Amino acid sequence: MNTRVSQNPGRAAVLRFPGWRPLLLGLGLALAAVTGYQQTLTAVTATEPVALPFSPSMLEVPAPIPDLPTLSPDSIRELLPPPRTRSEHYVIQPGDTLEQIFRHYGIAMNDLHDILQTDEQYLVMDIIRPDTELTFEFNEQDEFQALSMQTSMVRTVTYRRTDKGFRFYEIVRPTQWQQYIVRADVSSSLYNTILQTGLSEREAMEITHLLGSKINFQRELRPGDTFDAIVSDEYLQERPTGERRLDAIKLNVRGRDYVAIRFADGNYYDEQANSLTPALLRYPTRYHYRVTSPFNPNRHHPVTHRYAPHNGVDLGTPSGTPVLATGDGIVTRVANHPYAGRYLVIDNDGPYSTRFLHLSKILVRKGQRVKRGQKIALSGNTGRTTGAHLHYELHINNRPVNPMTADIPTMTSVPDKQKADYQQLVDNYLPMLTRKQISLTDVSRNQG
Ligand SMILES: [Zn+2]
Repeated sequence: MNTRVSQNPGRAAVLRFPGWRPLLLGLGLALAAVTGYQQTLTAVTATEPVALPFSPSMLEVPAPIPDLPTLSPDSIRELLPPPRTRSEHYVIQPGDTLEQIFRHYGIAMNDLHDILQTDEQYLVMDIIRPDTELTFEFNEQDEFQALSMQTSMVRTVTYRRTDKGFRFYEIVRPTQWQQYIVRADVSSSLYNTILQTGLSEREAMEITHLLGSKINFQRELRPGDTFDAIVSDEYLQERPTGERRLDAIKLNVRGRDYVAIRFADGNYYDEQANSLTPALLRYPTRYHYRVTSPFNPNRHHPVTHRYAPHNGVDLGTPSGTPVLATGDGIVTRVANHPYAGRYLVIDNDGPYSTRFLHLSKILVRKGQRVKRGQKIALSGNTGRTTGAHLHYELHINNRPVNPMTADIPTMTSVPDKQKADYQQLVDNYLPMLTRKQISLTDVSRNQG
């Protein structure tokens, strides 16, 4: 039963309702007939209640049937068909607001606020884009139960009503990665050379950043140097999701190899297993502030008993405290949320990303590259807070972790007990990165 907005730009949402109303009316009457007159149960369950035509004779009490066991209301419920529910689908149009959409389906604003409150820890709702399809579920009493949406090709999130508020659920579909090799001869800058292979500007930036600690490209790079990389594209069944992973990189500069290999922890290391992923700061502020609310993914509110995980750590920063990037990365989101307030998200190098909530002022733009320790915002009290503080989140591979205790890169190397695994990866990748056919001119150039 789909309810869709007609594709009519520039006009208010026009909705077509399919025929669920008469259906529900019929169902209601049938149920009334069943529960009101238990003796007719066998007759009613023998047919589909919804299909029963309403007739005045149904309201007449038939004569009792002998030997029919007396049924409790509970057992009647078990005998009835599963609860009738309905779902409605709505495709977001430019200019829509969540309030409008919720009102359209007759859903209480309290429910929207409850969802947004839960969403403070996930930040999905305020960045819903046009063409996203929202699915609203209603129970047999026609009460709103759940809101679902697909946030990417592989991820579906649901906010489902519980007796402790709305709870967040996430389904991530399994994908496959397909590995291949890209190669280019250095022509101008390394950046442009990488772009020639079909990798993105962002990947070019990440690669130059990873290798930048080892070599000064501008001074040392020459035509005839080579760039080779092993990359993987993500597929959902046969379709590419658009996600790409850099598995291994090799830059050969005047015969010398500079290598970066992505290990199982998501960090990059060189041939000798020394970390290339820049270190992260533990604290997002210059001075250390008291933790006013710790990271707790299973938190329940002590008073309201709401299910309320806390995916970050609250630091007791007075409004206006400088907020620092905890690692190098790219600003991927600058946004405003009714509960999270003014916030920003940074995709840090490696498997890390960081979020900063309730800010009073943001000092960076979306798409901007930031450096560890850079002042990116001022803390504040925006959104729904009980006082000024900084809510700071650290995610590793898209999962929130405790930023105060998580393993963060500190410019070291692969742990000893994993060195054998890493060496195996190196032994596997290096031959793949090596160009097999070297012409005589290549040899002479390398020797010159
Ligand atoms: Zn918090």
